[in-house]
Amino acid sequence: MNRPIYMDNLATTPVDPRVLDAMLPYFTEHFGNAASSTHGFGWKAAEAVEEARGQVAAAIGASSADEIVFTSGGTESNNLAIKGVYDHLGAAGGHVITCVTEHKSVLDSCARLESRGSRVTRLPVDRAGRINLESLEGAIAADTVLISVMAANNEIGTVQALERIGEIAARHGVIWHCDAVQAVGKIDLDVGKMGVDLLSLSAHKIYGPKGIGALYVRRKRRRGAPAVPRVRLVAQIEGGGHERGIRSGTLNIPGIVGFGRACEIARAEVSAERARLQQQCRRLAEGLADRLPEVGFNGHSSARLPGCLSATFTGCSGSDLITGLRDVAISTGAACSSGTELSHVLTAVGLRPDQVAATIRFGLGRFTSDDEVARVVERVAAEVERNRRRQAGPLLASAGTQVN
Ligand SMILES: *Cc1c(COP(=O)(O)O)cnc(C)c1O
Repeated sequence: MNRPIYMDNLATTPVDPRVLDAMLPYFTEHFGNAASSTHGFGWKAAEAVEEARGQVAAAIGASSADEIVFTSGGTESNNLAIKGVYDHLGAAGGHVITCVTEHKSVLDSCARLESRGSRVTRLPVDRAGRINLESLEGAIAADTVLISVMAANNEIGTVQALERIGEIAARHGVIWHCDAVQAVGKIDLDVGKMGVDLLSLSAHKIYGPKGIGALYVRRKRRRGAPAVPRVRLVAQIEGGGHERGIRSGTLNIPGIVGFGRACEIARAEVSAERARLQQQCRRLAEGLADRLPEVGFNGHSSARLPGCLSATFTGCSGSDLITGLRDVAISTGAACSSGTELSHVLTAVGLRPDQVAATIRFGLGRFTSDDEVARVVERVAAEVERNRRRQAGPLLASAGTQVN
């Protein structure tokens, strides 16, 4: 059997061969511990870490490489940002604002603070998946210590009004953390323009290896009145004091080198890649809409991640479709929650339970070809038709209509 077509790039991406090439020597030849300061093996590793730190910083417009703290991935970065700020500033009772469509690692971290006595406001979203900026501003109270709102959603691709959120946070002197795991390397991101204080990244969503990520921690004071407090974090993993004491543990050198290279490639190729993905995505959406009645698309029509298409095939079961489409790798939604419960994101944008169950997420990526897009249109359209005929069968039969 042919290899299935991979269209689940929002769940994870393959490692780019150029990234792998950069990593390989750091498993064998240059295997040193970056914290070993007494010999060349350690120096070589430390040098590689600092180069990668610069590459990650450059990808998000950070003014200094020192603002990048390496972690094990997006989940850890989100936990570190939210719990770390809170532990430093919060005391019991501090108020946190987030949004209902956040990744589970943000929602669960906020729930943890709530269990420790914090008040948490979870902002709703409109049908396109965006928060209302007036509601955000209205939710800020005297004891608000943190806003955590993501850059781009991992199920429907909606990009929030990032610079406006930064303006509001600055105006009220509140720290803003942004989960930008899906946005880095896919849309133009600049931490200065965004006015963000903390920003989470992960390598495996941008053609780097799994198990490595970073947290951007703003070091300079931000303009704006009243002044936003300097960002200070309480470490959540303690030990040898690595990463300036913010995150202990021997550094994952091959992972960090690969992450740096992945950021460098993304930065160089983001505009060309975005244009191609947008075109392929449009072809996929138009192809499906031409072939099928009653297909709906979720998320914002323009402020959306290139390559992300969430489609609702009314009257179908998404999981049956996926089972029937063994030759296409797609998903019903987030990899971490699929199968167990109805998507909290699709519910939040107003889909009925039957519509949520009829929704599939397509994630096009760097290695998606035009031919694959065309084949997926054919395969999905045929499978949806088959599924609808089957679903309609008993209904039509009971209404006395003859079906085949
Ligand atoms: C994948 C993802 C994460 C988690 O990142 P990991 O590196 O897999 O832990 C967090 N937030 C968003 C939006 C994601 O898509």
